[in-house]
Amino acid sequence: MQIFHTAPQMRAWSRAQQKAGRRVGFVPTMGALHTGHTSLLDEAKRRSDTVVLSIFVNPTQFGPNEDFAKYPRTWEADLALAAAHGVEAIFHPTEDFYPPGYRTQVTVPGWKSVLEGDIRPDHFDGVTSVVTKLFHAVDPDVAVFGQKDAQQALLIRRMVRDLDFGLDLVVAPTVRESDGLALSSRNRYLSENDRRRALVLSRALNASVALWNGGCRNPSEIIAVGRAVLAQDPPDTLDYFTLLDPDSLAVLDADGARQNPCILVAAGRYGTTRLIDNAVLGAVW
Ligand code: AMP
Repeated sequence: MQIFHTAPQMRAWSRAQQKAGRRVGFVPTMGALHTGHTSLLDEAKRRSDTVVLSIFVNPTQFGPNEDFAKYPRTWEADLALAAAHGVEAIFHPTEDFYPPGYRTQVTVPGWKSVLEGDIRPDHFDGVTSVVTKLFHAVDPDVAVFGQKDAQQALLIRRMVRDLDFGLDLVVAPTVRESDGLALSSRNRYLSENDRRRALVLSRALNASVALWNGGCRNPSEIIAVGRAVLAQDPPDTLDYFTLLDPDSLAVLDADGARQNPCILVAAGRYGTTRLIDNAVLGAVW
């Protein structure tokens, strides 16, 4: 497994692979790897000949009061997991990934401030900009993202289409604990009691999904049934529990008859830990 710290080194390796006729798969992460991340590595491996993993805790996507400094960093364990899942190269940029005087931003106007973007101003500009830089460094043929961050995946899909990145974007399903909790690097910060309480998020999503699967197409009813489950054991703060149109990013919360696929998105806080989750209704990806 090779480790590269600069974009030119990384790009030279990828280009050599492609010259040798190998398709490069790419999974960008912030490290602290768990089974959710390794499922993306496995998916990338199925769709390519060689897999690159990036590990970079990107400062520009964290707000001033967010957890950048205390975001978990588990380098040795990450290396072991990467090797076990057949990763051939790791891109681990150093601080100078952002050159002195860095100013440029890649932005998806409008979409960057819906729901998650509204609660975390500047977050999605940080994400789309760093993913652009990572794409330029790795130059992948296929990139795999998790549905766990569905709004992020929608923004990146829009950006890839709009700016002709010329790569295949794959969105892989959310990996969960057996009790339904979506795996997240931040779950380790939940107290035992909050971890138990947080199961209400997936239970609420499941209740809404069941209504959709039973044939209901009314957004307000689909949302109401999930919110009723949430109300049984609500998070300390509920940021949102609603439906999104994956093509326009419009929030769908009124009475109506929705036929096209859509995404249920949820976010809540337990103490200082913020969790997000979602479920797709129909074939979104
Ligand atoms: P991060 O945890 O922010 O480093 O995420 C890196 C990638 O892993 C993103 O594409 C996430 O959507 C994805 N990811 C995180 N958690 C999960 C999960 N539980 N299941 C599937 N993918 C995930």
